[in-house]
Amino acid sequence: MEKHLKTISEMPLKFPISLNIDACNACNLKCLMCFQDSYQFRKQTMAISLYKKIIENIPEENKLEIIYLHKDGEPLLNKELSKMIDFAKSKGISKRISFTTNGQLLTNDRVKEFVSAGLDSINISVDAFSPEIYALVKGRNMYKQLEKKIISLLQKNFNLEISLSFIVLEENKHELQSFKEQWKNAPVEIVVHKYHDWCGCNKKEGDFFFKNSINTTICDNPFYSLAVNVDGSASICCVDNGREAIVGNLGSSDLIEIWSGKRLENVRRALFRGNLSSLPCKNCHYKIEYRNNIYSSMRSNSKLKELYN
Ligand code: SF4
Repeated sequence: MEKHLKTISEMPLKFPISLNIDACNACNLKCLMCFQDSYQFRKQTMAISLYKKIIENIPEENKLEIIYLHKDGEPLLNKELSKMIDFAKSKGISKRISFTTNGQLLTNDRVKEFVSAGLDSINISVDAFSPEIYALVKGRNMYKQLEKKIISLLQKNFNLEISLSFIVLEENKHELQSFKEQWKNAPVEIVVHKYHDWCGCNKKEGDFFFKNSINTTICDNPFYSLAVNVDGSASICCVDNGREAIVGNLGSSDLIEIWSGKRLENVRRALFRGNLSSLPCKNCHYKIEYRNNIYSSMRSNSKLKELYN
């Protein structure tokens, strides 16, 4: 958090520090908290030729801090994932490469390939402690299989940072403590999130924080990061699953052009001023859940005020 607050004091940034690139927008699970059923986009893996163009459109001299190879789907469904990791690493355009996965397609052989290609970390979304709750929350009765994969992965002791995550819902909240206990002595980071509804597209009833203040908070995402959809279009953030806020295409434009372009600047201005009516942000609980004290720092950054007020 402190590091992030420092980033805010350095805004506006000449270049993003993080980029999500969607390796695949399909998924092999059916989680309760997902947005997948809300959109009719063609399910596909990103073509390696498009991915290479995207990477080549990131200037080497402005290294990103991190690339996440996930956005709307399960990255392990992309068979060329290790080639993607390797290509980004060989171009030297990002300090770190990571992705979030549901872990069902993990094998030690694949992880070995990823690590040799340059993968730095992975997050495995577990979201349960028992097979019953896993089946309920993730839509498939595959908990035991996942648990076995995680244990086997940890035994291999790869040079890889691993985190296990848990999104808290009504259905699984009673298992959070047991989940934490189960993994507390393992060499993993435990990450816990509250559920958010992907800008209103997941209609599941949720226990949202700060529900009433949704329009009064600035989101920092488009001020330090960008997300690339499976078709190469660039979204303002990884929560824009409906591709409602497209600010360019990384398959055909340079990242700098998009980052400092009019479309993204207009979004930042709208966020700063709280004019959210034309943006998915108007229904977004994600911005509120995680970053409450970041907003005041943004408001007191004089350069941001001068640019966007
Ligand atoms: S408010 Fe939500 S949708 Fe808007 S940029 Fe932030 S995270 Fe994305």
